[in-house]
This record gives sequence, C-alpha cells and structure tokens, in this order.
Amino acid sequence: MSSSTAMSLLATSGARLPPLPTIRDLVRLYKLRAIKQLSQNFLMDERLTNKIVRAAGNIQNNYVLEVGPGPGGITRSIIKMCPRHLVVVEKDRRFLPTLELLSEASKDFLRMDIVRGDILEYHMAAAFPECSNMDWQDKRAPVHIIGNLPFAISTRLLVNWLREMSLQTGAWSYGRSSLTLTFQKEVAERIVAPILAENRCRLSVMNQIWSRAELKFLIPGKAFVPKPDVDVGVIHIIPLKKPLTIVHFDIVEKVVRHIFSMRQKYCRRGVANLYPPDVREELTELTFRMADVDPLARSFQLSTEECLRIAEAYDLLTKSKPDIRHYNYRAPKEKVVVEAI
Ligand code: SAM
Repeated sequence: MSSSTAMSLLATSGARLPPLPTIRDLVRLYKLRAIKQLSQNFLMDERLTNKIVRAAGNIQNNYVLEVGPGPGGITRSIIKMCPRHLVVVEKDRRFLPTLELLSEASKDFLRMDIVRGDILEYHMAAAFPECSNMDWQDKRAPVHIIGNLPFAISTRLLVNWLREMSLQTGAWSYGRSSLTLTFQKEVAERIVAPILAENRCRLSVMNQIWSRAELKFLIPGKAFVPKPDVDVGVIHIIPLKKPLTIVHFDIVEKVVRHIFSMRQKYCRRGVANLYPPDVREELTELTFRMADVDPLARSFQLSTEECLRIAEAYDLLTKSKPDIRHYNYRAPKEKVVVEAI
C-alpha cells in the first residue's frame, strides 16, 4: 500500500499500530527503572495518554514535537492521531529501543524523528523544515508541542517558550503553535490564576500577556509510575493573535518578577527594588503615577493590564539610562578598595 493511501485510510479511522507489547511490558522488559533526577513518572494508561493528546486539538496531518517521550505512552496516542511528522526529544538514551520500535511500526504513514538530547538546548525552528511558516494573524500554525514534562524543568521550559512566543522565534517561527503540557497541579492552577486569586503569580501574568491558557483536566498522582507526591494538571496554551504589549519580554519579565517578589507586602516594595538606592524613592513614585496604579495594592490584586502599565512606565523611564536599566539589587555589592597612599 502506498504511504498516501495508508494516510488517507488512517485519517478517517485513526491509525492502528501493529500489535506491540504494552508500555508496562516494555518498561519491565528493558528494565527501565525511573530516574528521579530526570523527573521520570510514566503514564501507562492509554485512556489518559489519549485524553492528553485530544486536549491538543486536531493534530491529524499536522506537525508534533513531543518532549520527553520516555517509554512512549503518549507517543503511541500521538501516532494514532496520524500527524504528518512527529519529532520526539528524549534525554535518556535507555528509551531509544522502545521509541525505535514505534518509529518502525508507524513508518508507512508517518515520519518520526527521534532526537536524543536535552529539550533545553533543542532548536525547534529546525524541527519541521517542510512546514511552511504561517502569518501570525492567520489561522493557528499546524505545529503542536505536547509533553508530560519533567517537573524539574517545567516552569523554566514554559518561561523559555513564552519568551520565544513573544519574539516569534523557535516553534513560533511557524506561526501560532500550541502547547499541551502537564504541570504539577499547583503550578497548573497558578498558570491560569485570575486577578484576586490567592495563587496568582508571575507565571499567571506572563502567560496572560502572550497567550490564552486553559486548564483542561487533572490527573491524580496515582496514575503515574512511580507515583509522584503531587497531582498533575494538563494545560493547553494558544498564543494570542494580538499580545497585550509590545514591550520586550525580558523587561516585562523583570518587572513582573519584582512585582510578585514580596507577595505579602504592598507591590510598591518589590517595584522599588528595580531602581538603585539613590533614585529609588523618586522613580518608584513616578512609575506608579505614570502607570496609574495604586502602590499600596498587593501583587495578586493587580490586573494583567496594571502589571503591564508598570512595566511600560519602567521601560520608558529607563530606556535612555542603561545604568539604571541594568541595575540588579541582588547583585553582590562591589567592594570599595581603598588604596594605601
Ligand atoms: N512521556 C512519558 C510518559 O508520559 O510516560 C515520560 C514522562 S516523564 C514525566 C519525563 C520524561 O522527560 C522522561 O522520559 C525523562 O527522561 C525526560 N526528560 C527529562 N529531562 C529532559 C530534558 N532536559 N530533555 C528531554 N527529555 C527530558
């Protein structure tokens, strides 16, 4: 059967893989004991892996990058939905044989590339050379990032990806690519936390500036092997057609981090630390006046727009003052060397 006939048959029915050992059997067969340092918690339940993949939307004939496929549970569910091209990036080489098994079993209807490497260093812009770039304002790009993320790096990855999304680089050079990812339940809830929610934080505001994030469903910790101490939330993220600001990500990130740095105190306290001591009072007051924000509000009481107005005021005030802009109140103080005369 030609690959295009296979594709069209599968497109209507969902791909049926040839009989394969279960993930549980493969883990046992290859003695794949989970490594804690790599945050390995495997999903063996096919209903759950299918549900995660369905949360990504229609991926048929699209391009999918899976982060940390491990033994391949989610990978199987992805393959069954017939994407055009699947790239999996896995740091642990012990999983290569099980992934190669999947690649071989699906080779008639799917291109699957297995990358042994660190997702933190992987250049997503090069993953799908045959995928043409879409205009940001057009329909969404046919590129989806899916992953049961390693907890240890999940927040870092998300912030890196939001940065690339804001700059329209990496996976976002193709257009508005989507993310469907697992997080520790508390982190997932923070990502979508609205104004006044007790758990609102930097991640909530940063996400809401550049994307629409939805908490799709929760998975109890006991569904994973080994069982983590926490439950898990599945988040689906779509970039906004029109982000809420044009200020550079790094400036916004710095300001929002400061706003939320002292949660129990007035937000003025965190913002003040953006400025060196000699101009602190004056510039902090000016920032809040320009932004038209109450300096005595607590950070969780600020709307995304108010946080942005503070960032925009800071951007304006420091644009032509690099010494103030690069000030870092956490940097070790310079020692004053008194030369002996
Ligand atoms: N997707 C599998 C599943 O759901 O059963 C495994 C998920 S497990 C939570 C995280 C996976 O990410 C592991 O396979 C681990 O080896 C891999 N991993 C950890 N750090 C990584 C990194 N920096 N780059 C790529 N993969 C990584």
